[in-house]
Amino acid sequence: MPTTTWHDRAAELRMDGRAFIDGERVDARTEARFDCISPIDGRKLAEVARCDALDVDAAVSSARAAFEDRRWAGKAPAERKRILIRFADLMLANRDELALLETLDMGKPIRYSRSVDVQLAQNCIRWYGEAIDKLYDQVAPTSDASLALITREPVGVVAAIIPWNYPMLMAAWKIGPALAAGNSLVLKPSEKAPLSALRLAELALEAGVPPGVFNVVPGFGNEAGSALGLHMDVDCIAFTGSTRVGKQIVQMAGQSNLKRAWTELGGKSANIVCADCPDLDAAVSAAIGSIYFNQGESCNAPSRLFVEASIKDAFLDKALAMLPQFAPGDPLDEATVMGAIVDPIQMKTVLGYIEAGKEEGARLLAGGAAARVESGGLYIEPTLFDGVDATMRIAREEIFGPVLSVLSFTDLDDAVRQANATPYGLAAAVWTADISKAVRTARALRAGTVHVNQYDNDDITVPFGGYKQSGNGRDKSLHAFDKYTELKTTWIQVG
Ligand code: NAD
Repeated sequence: MPTTTWHDRAAELRMDGRAFIDGERVDARTEARFDCISPIDGRKLAEVARCDALDVDAAVSSARAAFEDRRWAGKAPAERKRILIRFADLMLANRDELALLETLDMGKPIRYSRSVDVQLAQNCIRWYGEAIDKLYDQVAPTSDASLALITREPVGVVAAIIPWNYPMLMAAWKIGPALAAGNSLVLKPSEKAPLSALRLAELALEAGVPPGVFNVVPGFGNEAGSALGLHMDVDCIAFTGSTRVGKQIVQMAGQSNLKRAWTELGGKSANIVCADCPDLDAAVSAAIGSIYFNQGESCNAPSRLFVEASIKDAFLDKALAMLPQFAPGDPLDEATVMGAIVDPIQMKTVLGYIEAGKEEGARLLAGGAAARVESGGLYIEPTLFDGVDATMRIAREEIFGPVLSVLSFTDLDDAVRQANATPYGLAAAVWTADISKAVRTARALRAGTVHVNQYDNDDITVPFGGYKQSGNGRDKSLHAFDKYTELKTTWIQVG
């Protein structure tokens, strides 16, 4: 019996780029479409509805109607919980299809889209579903003459705008808490990877999420995206993407109805390895594994590596020995760990940073060029620069590609100062066997997540978000409910 390969399955995959409004697949009102191209080999995957302000109006009205008649928020908590858990079950039942959509659309290796992206996304929906009937409201301590109830209510119509690097997972981080809290949602996926979010909306409907509660409007940022940002009937906008666009979202909220605007933005995370690091192999493996995972297209990638001068040579020898494992390969081959760069614009940006690094005097120790050009796809070798100093663009700006900048230090306080000398504050790490040094450094690092002697730990139970220009919100954990609920105080006079 011949075995079916991921390429065979990809050839048979149904890809539907129409929008999802009020429980139905629809074309854009203008019938405009754009091509969805795979970065794996340049093939056209689908034509996608190019939604604009008219479609956004339709989706927002449908979400508003669903919110006002309480077809979702009014259901018993146990029923909403059952539906969200069924939604997560359906994601698992369709795991291969969702993983393929993700890999074809944005280029990540199938082994990860299957075992990481679908797995974490379904777990997120499941976890928020499970939370629904475990949250209690509060009674304030007042006198016998009155009762003051403090309750959480859904905000209303939530708009979510998400990026392309983890399309399904970023969607799930919004869908889970927004729906668990009883809101209606209009989601705009990135124009670079819209397919998995559209399929999620179908699965949510199949699970029992009523029509109108979860709508998806694919399209471009300056069309569908800004229409959501400026919409007068959207109560809350939850944005994940670049700091540049995040600032525009906050402005649009202020310019329109002062909708609650939550931003989860870019990063330039620092990873500090001290000479007394307890396990050098583990530090090398985490530094290298985390920067090249997802082709370096991770907001929290540790893209600035500070190594104490006395161990830098040993560190780099080990790091360079690991690099061949990350050679880009066919994303549909299960052995591949580094896939394709999402599109030609991002490819040009990353190669541009590599040129800037060379021009500014950093030493290119590995990579630095496009790879697998014959495939027709977009690939970049894992790239490592040594001799980077804090003034160079590759040390200051978010590259969002497989490029590691290595800096060295002799004074830990100075390394921490340099680590903090960035507009970003998403993640950071310190490696040391000295517990006091670890705690002092973790306290001093201005970032939403600090790792000590590891980099990869992650769990739905912990909040994720940034300090400074990495954003103002927190995704994941029970804290995400703060974004999607209003606090109400009700005073009751007692007889
Ligand atoms: P982007 O800001 O270019 O786009 C993000 C989304 O915003 C897309 O859906 C896009 O269409 C939309 N958009 C663009 N212009 C818009 C406008 N004028 N009005 C409304 N919407 C608009 O970012 P990207 O390239 O898709 O994603 C990469 C960025 O996302 C990186 O900076 C990365 O660090 C960040 N990111 C952050 C997190 C986090 O949790 N902090 C997670 C993933 C990615």
